[in-house]
Amino acid sequence: MPEANVDLLVIGAGPGGYPAAIRAGQLGLKTLVVEKGMWGGTCLNIGCIPSKALITAGKTVEQCSKASVMGISVEGVSVDMKQMQTWKGGIVKRMTKGVQQLCKGNGATLETGTATFTSATTAHVTPVQGDAYDVTFGHAVIATGSVPIQLPAFPFDEQSILSSTGALDLDHVPARVVVIGGGYIGLEMGQMLSKLGAAVTVVEMGDQVMPGFDPEIVQVIARSLRKARVKVFLDARADGWTRDGDDLVVSVSTAKGSEELRCDKILVTVGRKPYSDGLGLDAAGVEQDEHGFVPVDEQLRTNVPHILAVGDVTGNPMLAHRATKQGEIAAEVAAGKKVATDYKTVPAVVFTDPEIATAGLSEAEAREQGFELKIGKFPWAANGRALTQLSTDGFVKVIADAADNQVLCIAFVGPHASDLISEAALAIEMDAFAEDLALTIHPHPTLGEAVMEAAAKALGHAIHVMN
Ligand code: FAD
Repeated sequence: MPEANVDLLVIGAGPGGYPAAIRAGQLGLKTLVVEKGMWGGTCLNIGCIPSKALITAGKTVEQCSKASVMGISVEGVSVDMKQMQTWKGGIVKRMTKGVQQLCKGNGATLETGTATFTSATTAHVTPVQGDAYDVTFGHAVIATGSVPIQLPAFPFDEQSILSSTGALDLDHVPARVVVIGGGYIGLEMGQMLSKLGAAVTVVEMGDQVMPGFDPEIVQVIARSLRKARVKVFLDARADGWTRDGDDLVVSVSTAKGSEELRCDKILVTVGRKPYSDGLGLDAAGVEQDEHGFVPVDEQLRTNVPHILAVGDVTGNPMLAHRATKQGEIAAEVAAGKKVATDYKTVPAVVFTDPEIATAGLSEAEAREQGFELKIGKFPWAANGRALTQLSTDGFVKVIADAADNQVLCIAFVGPHASDLISEAALAIEMDAFAEDLALTIHPHPTLGEAVMEAAAKALGHAIHVMN
C-alpha cells in the first residue's frame, strides 16, 4: 500500500494527469497518481495516437493508388485490418509503458485503480489489485478527462453503433459506414475508413462540416470529401435506426425530406462531455458548471483552492497539448511556485486530408473584436515542395492587425499543417509582426516558405503569387 499521506494526489493519468505527476516528482513533491487503467488516458489509448496510426495507414493506401503518376505502379494493394491493429496496438503499448516509466522515474508512486474524494483533504483508493485504502493529500489534481456523448436513439454497443473507441478497434473494414456528426473526430475517422475502402456517409446538423471553422478552410475539406465520394448531408438530423436483415437503416431528416441510409456500422461522433463519475466531487466541495465541467482560475485552482483541475474536465478546447501544459502548471502551483496559465493561443490541428491547423483568433473572431485586417493567402499550388509531394489543395492564411501588422492568426489547410503550425504558434506567443515572418529566411524548397510568402502577401509584396 502506498504511503497514506502525500503532498499531491493526481487522479487520472492522461495528457493532463501524467505530466502533472512527472513535474511534481521533478519538484520533489511526494506524489501519488491513480489511474483506472488507461495509462496515458484517452489520448494514448483510444484517441490521438491510435487514430493517427490508422489515419497514416489510410493515407498510405491512398498514396499507393496515386503513385502511378510518378511512374510507380503498385498492384494488389490490400488491407489486413488485424495486422494494422497489431501495429497500432504496439505503438500504444510502447507509449503507455513509457508514461508509467517516466512517472516512476521521476519519483511518483503509481496506482492502477479508482480514486474517490471522501473530503476536501482525503480520498479513497480502490486498486484493481489489492486492498482499498485512504489517502490524505496536501494538494490534488483532478485530471479525469472526458467521454463521448451518446445520442439516446443511438446507444453505443461498439458492435453496430460505434463511438470513436469502437471505430479505432475494428477487425475488418466495414463496407458502408454512416457517421453521425461532421466535427473533427467524425471527419478524421470517416476519411480514414473511406481511404481503407469503406463507403462513408456523413450526417451533420450544421450547415457545414467542421462547424465553427473558417468556411474558406471548410470548402477545401468539402471538396476533398466529394473527390473521395464521401457523401455529406448538411442541415440533417439522424432520428433513429432499425435493422433490416444484415443492414442497419438510419433515418435522417433533412430540409428536403427524409432519407433512409443503409449501412453496416453507425459511428456517432457528436462531441465529448466531462467525466467525473464516482469521483466524489460533492464530498470534496468542488463545484461543477451546468455542463459538468470543473471551472478553474488561471492557476488551475477549483473553488477549493488546494484542489486543482486540468484537461478536458475543465472545458474547451478539449485537446491533449492544452491538458499537458495545464498539468505542468498545476504541479508547479502545488509546489508553491508563482505561476499561472497565460498562453495566447492553443493551436488546433485536425488530421483530415488535407490537414487543418490554426493558431490565434479566427478571421471571424478578429472581425468581431473590431480589428481592421490585412490578410495574405498563399496557395499550395504555388509552392514547389507541395507540388513535389502531390499535395496542392489548400492554402496558408496569415491575418494581421492592419494598424500595426501584428499577427493575429495563421491558418493552414494543406500538407503537413500539423507540423507547420508550431511556427505560427510561436509567432503569436511572441507577438510577431507580419514583417517578422516575411523577413525570416525560410529554406527552399520547403512547405514553410508558404508562411513567409503569405505574410509577405499580407504586406503586399509576395514573390511567388500576384499581390
Ligand atoms: P483523458 O486523456 O481522458 O484521461 C483521463 C484519465 O482519467 C483516463 O485515463 C481515465 O481512466 C482516468 N480516470 C477518470 N476517473 C478516474 C478516477 N476516479 N480514478 C482514477 N482514474 C480516473 N487531442 C489532440 O490534441 N490531438 C488529437 O489529434 C486528438 N485526437 C483525438 C482523437 C480521438 C478519437 C479522441 C477521442 C480524442 C482526441 N483528442 C485529441 C483529444 C484528447 O484525447 C484529449 O483532449 C486528452 O486525452 C485529454 O486529456 P485529459 O488528461 O484531460 O483526459
